[in-house]
Amino acid sequence: MTYLPLAQASTLTKSLLHILIVGEDLGRSPLEDCLEQISRWDLSWRSQPFVTPLEPADLIILFCPEALTEIWLDQSLALALPVVVVTAAPLPKQPGLIAIPPGELSPLTLELGFRAVLQEKASDLVLQPAPRPLETHLQLTTILVKFSQALFRPEATLDKALGILGRHLQMERITIFQWHWDGAGQINSPPNIVEQWSYDGSPPCQKKVAEFPLHWWQQLLELGDVVAIAHQHQDPKLVPLLEFLDVKAFLGLPIFDHQGHHWGHLIFTSEVARAHPWSALEIQALKMAAELLHHNLIRTATQRELEASEALYAGIVTHSAEAIFLIRVHRAIAITAAAPVDLTELVTEFTFEMVNPTYCEKMGVYPRQIIGKSPQTVFPEKLAQQLCDSFQGCLEIGETLLFEEVIELPDCTQIWRTCLIPIRDRQGTIQQIQGSARDVTEERQLELTKMRYSRHQHMLASLTVKILRSWDMDKMLTTTVQELRKTLQADRVIFWEILNETEGKVTAEATHPNVRSMLHHRFPLAAFNRGDFDLFRQGELQTCIDVEAAKFPPAHDAMLREYGVVAYAVLPVLVSAMDDPEGEPRLKGLICVQQCHFPQIWNADELHLLRQLINQICIALNQAELLQRQRHYTNELARSNQELEQFAYVASHDLQEPLQLVANYAQLLARRNGDRLDERSQRYLQHITAGTRTMQTQIQDLLRYSRLNTRQSKPELVSMEDCLQRAIANLKLKLKRTHTQLHCPKTLPEVLGDGSQLQSLWQNLLSNAIKYRGDRQPKITINVTETEHHWQFMVADNGIGIDPKHQQRIFQIFQRLHTQEEYPGTGIGLAICHRIVKIHGGDIWVTSQPQAGATFYFTLPIYHH
Ligand code: ADP
Repeated sequence: MTYLPLAQASTLTKSLLHILIVGEDLGRSPLEDCLEQISRWDLSWRSQPFVTPLEPADLIILFCPEALTEIWLDQSLALALPVVVVTAAPLPKQPGLIAIPPGELSPLTLELGFRAVLQEKASDLVLQPAPRPLETHLQLTTILVKFSQALFRPEATLDKALGILGRHLQMERITIFQWHWDGAGQINSPPNIVEQWSYDGSPPCQKKVAEFPLHWWQQLLELGDVVAIAHQHQDPKLVPLLEFLDVKAFLGLPIFDHQGHHWGHLIFTSEVARAHPWSALEIQALKMAAELLHHNLIRTATQRELEASEALYAGIVTHSAEAIFLIRVHRAIAITAAAPVDLTELVTEFTFEMVNPTYCEKMGVYPRQIIGKSPQTVFPEKLAQQLCDSFQGCLEIGETLLFEEVIELPDCTQIWRTCLIPIRDRQGTIQQIQGSARDVTEERQLELTKMRYSRHQHMLASLTVKILRSWDMDKMLTTTVQELRKTLQADRVIFWEILNETEGKVTAEATHPNVRSMLHHRFPLAAFNRGDFDLFRQGELQTCIDVEAAKFPPAHDAMLREYGVVAYAVLPVLVSAMDDPEGEPRLKGLICVQQCHFPQIWNADELHLLRQLINQICIALNQAELLQRQRHYTNELARSNQELEQFAYVASHDLQEPLQLVANYAQLLARRNGDRLDERSQRYLQHITAGTRTMQTQIQDLLRYSRLNTRQSKPELVSMEDCLQRAIANLKLKLKRTHTQLHCPKTLPEVLGDGSQLQSLWQNLLSNAIKYRGDRQPKITINVTETEHHWQFMVADNGIGIDPKHQQRIFQIFQRLHTQEEYPGTGIGLAICHRIVKIHGGDIWVTSQPQAGATFYFTLPIYHH
């Protein structure tokens, strides 16, 4: 359908248009509604059914069933009047005839239709609308009311509301733009189309808006308040804008937000110019419309946000793993029947207003069973009371309450972390309580288990340390039973030690003050045998959770009853046999953990602890036994060594006298009767004398050796250099006679020790180096080096050397590698050296090859000042 531009239509000159509506059913029709809304011209219309002749009029509107259209059309056209036909059927094109499909019927389409046919039929016709302010004002007010109604109706759409304005003002398009202001209060992008209405439903074109140069928009804004253009050329500055938009009439109204910021623009446009300029009334009314629009936009946005947050909240509540509920608080005056006047008090009742699926699931109820009901009507009495008490607590405190509670449900007990938040009305009275609860049973149990586990581990660790520290079996067992009682909170813990094949005795005990002691009591094996005693030997642990309910052999049962044992756990203590550490372990006894007041279920954690404990105890006991054995041997060894030393000392000391006697008498015999003896006897006598001399030196050496220990002086700081110099001085003659070359370091360190012993150490080593020189001129080098903890001294010679196979042996007492004839000696020098070095906390060894000299090393601890 094409419309005549409004500009041309304005040349018609007629102020009243008589219209003849020809139709079959002439009741109130949508057509008349439309005609009523055309305000630009004065119209008068009459309706008549189709009868000939038709009454005179300026224009005929044919409004009839489609089947009749053709006949009536001919009749109408015969009158040579402009005809507007409301029909969906296609019509032949001819001047003065136009069709409007019923669906498109509107004041605007009608008006444009009128213009077209009038223009074609009667070019001299000028329609001159008469300004009627009051009527216009009323009309505008009505439209504004309609607009606002449409805007704020619940099912309203912005498009429908804008349509009311558009149709009334006969504007083709209404657009709501939103500006984007930058920080400096400038726009730097085209506005955004928030909503658009168009008479033909054509979609808004944001692309077109975006293409429009920015400065034109800026110019529009600069124009200020309202830009009202009825005709394209009214304002030359805006011609390009209007041309770009392809419109001739334009009304731009700024929209301000509630803080007075320029939020956007409401813009009316039309492709046809307006017959009249925009009136002040119209502009004022439309400004109000713009304001209403902004309110509506804000309201819609807020509503949308609210809906979204409500949806979110509902989603959270429905799907939350937490139990969520809303409690309504009711207050009532309760009048007690017995004393109705005096005893009036305010009674608070609680009912469930909302519960989420998790709450229902946890509590084992359906929503319909609980909504609107009080806890008392839904839950068992105890639980209901507990819930009401917590709600009451929240009311009394008047603040958020966070607490943990044990909820006893019919089939289980749970621990809940509950949060109650009071919700107040405007007067501050708490009307509701919003609650949420999380089941923390598993968390708590886990924590408890962890705590118990760590307590047990701690006990195990400390017990192990105590056991290991004690090194004493009795002390260790006492510590064990005490710690066990503490950790397992047992009434009595004993160690029953097996004494022989038939009986045992309680050797360690820890008891609760109210419990009878078993300490030092003897019991036959049968008292601890419930029929599977061998299991103990295999390291198995035995428990009994309730003696009352168990059926034990009489001896075992009697013992338990006599000492009031209600529940127990028994751990075997196995140790390796003294005489056979590698063999089968021996059952040393039983550790019995006893409860005398209540039956006890031994949980896996406790049993695990007990098992670990048996292992620890058994290891410790084995170690203790080993240590005892070792101590025994060491003591034995020390004792026998001491005895031996004593013996050596006494022997060498006491033997000297008779030996001296033998030597003296042999000498006497030689001196007095020597010449009377025959040659053989004289030789015998010589042997006796030589033998006694050797033995004397040996005894003296032995005495020297044994004295090393028996006469230990208090260690003092000694200069090794002094010791060496004294030794050299004693050997001066020997050194000179043998032309020995001696190389000593400039200084030697100080050490802690016995000066005379260290001097004899040097002396022995030096004299050996000279003695075992062979046929070479002796060359002796002395040196010292520092290691991490020791001084390492060295005495190297160029003598006959020592075969490596003898290098250990030579440090033992009386061990020599040569005959007296080859090299005289007693074989005690190096043994003494060895002893001295050991006494001083050092070591001595030799490196040598036969005929390649020998190098003796010895170490002494470094003394730190
Ligand atoms: P004695 O020298 O009285 O035999 P020692 O205990 O001093 O006793 O020495 C033991 C043995 O070690 C000696 O008999 C000798 O064979 C060997 N020996 C000791 N010092 C040296 C050395 N510097 N060079 C070679 N052999 C040595």
